[in-house]
Amino acid sequence: MDIQRRFIGRVSLPAYAWLKGTTAQFRHLREFEASQRLPVDEIRARQLSRLRALVDHAYRRCPYYRERYDRAGVVPSDLRSLEDLNAFPILDKGDIRAHGDDMVSSDWPEGDLIPNYTGGSTGTPLEFYLSRDRKDSRWAATVRHNRWAGWDLGERVAYFWGAISDGPAPGGWRRRLRHALLEPQLFLNTANLTEAGMAGFNEAMKRFRPNVVLAYARSAAMIARYLRARGIPAYRPRAIVTSAEMLEPEDRQVIQEVFGCPVFNRYGCREVSVIASECEERRGLHTMAECLHVEIVRDGKLAEAGQDGEILVTDLANLAMPLIRYRIGDVGAWEGGRCECGRELPRLRHVAGRATDFLVGHDGRMVSGPFLTLAAVGVRPSIGQLQIEQERIGQVHFRIKRGSRFQAAEDLEFLVAAARTYLGETAEVGWEFVDEIPSEASGKFLFCKSKVSPAFLRDSIEASGADRK
Ligand SMILES: [Zn+2]
Repeated sequence: MDIQRRFIGRVSLPAYAWLKGTTAQFRHLREFEASQRLPVDEIRARQLSRLRALVDHAYRRCPYYRERYDRAGVVPSDLRSLEDLNAFPILDKGDIRAHGDDMVSSDWPEGDLIPNYTGGSTGTPLEFYLSRDRKDSRWAATVRHNRWAGWDLGERVAYFWGAISDGPAPGGWRRRLRHALLEPQLFLNTANLTEAGMAGFNEAMKRFRPNVVLAYARSAAMIARYLRARGIPAYRPRAIVTSAEMLEPEDRQVIQEVFGCPVFNRYGCREVSVIASECEERRGLHTMAECLHVEIVRDGKLAEAGQDGEILVTDLANLAMPLIRYRIGDVGAWEGGRCECGRELPRLRHVAGRATDFLVGHDGRMVSGPFLTLAAVGVRPSIGQLQIEQERIGQVHFRIKRGSRFQAAEDLEFLVAAARTYLGETAEVGWEFVDEIPSEASGKFLFCKSKVSPAFLRDSIEASGADRK
């Protein structure tokens, strides 16, 4: 196994990168391996120089930023320190949706605009572009952060993942060969969990023997609770990296106990890739500071360590379509002091506000509410925006803010069919049209509000009396 891993890391991946012309990936990786050991002053000095270059570029080359900054009365030369960025306007998802084309750098070669998209916080997909070089540096950043969890190139990896578009496409022999040679992987789709499915995951893991698991935090916790409640011995990987959802302390504990390995929390998003990860100390998440400038803002001021605020991210490395002070929609806080690992990359203490809910069918099957929302709107954008509420098992209620091309008969029929595909034929489906999808008191928008939880969770909560969250 170890020979296979070493072969993949040292021979087949570099050879593949060379063939594909992406050796820049490995150059970035070498740089990031070195720069993570720099003193914080040097890291900040490099950030400032990249930030000034980025803002200057955006002002000159992107009509959106020129117009926005002129209106706000700011110019790139105002940036004398990283903190000065707080005087610049914040970028919302709605701005990208409305003005995305004007954010693309005017002189950027069309062949170097790689499209990507995200669900966005309102359930409508958001399109954005990366340069090839940024795509390569995102890959390198992810590999560096994986290594903190002891996950190196070429490891056998199992994914507990809900977003189908991130998984391996079914398919051709080239793709299968590529994965066999580059990263042996097992993909377990958690978008539609059933009790039988969770037991099946465990069996599949025992056969595949992954070194590492990358998981949606809530899905991993749910599988752990299920295995524990049923007394099924879990497969034990070397490490589990959780991402995409908020990791509650109770969830971390149950995952670690059941799978018998450390959990490394990670925070990232499609727009800028990995934002921060736990190192081997697992006391706060170090940011990917070479490529990203992260701000936490509260009442218009930069937050002190330990103070919760809104997370804003600036991608310092994507000049093709700059994202400057991008509001992700999450709340977080800085960690103070120094990390025992010796890295001086700034640390987030925690990220709050990514909790997601599961919907439950009459027969006990479960589906991730955010997944269902994104899948439905992704397939039929004419629906507009969507929120799902569940009052009782087997029932769902859609709140629909209709898109401009909404087609009542077809879109509603599609939603009913989607709900029944995932929750079973007997699912009761209701809907209402709204002018605005209400956000929570916290200001967060929720894809899904579920008032029920799966049966085995209630059983184990009652049995232990301690797992309530
Ligand atoms: Zn550390």
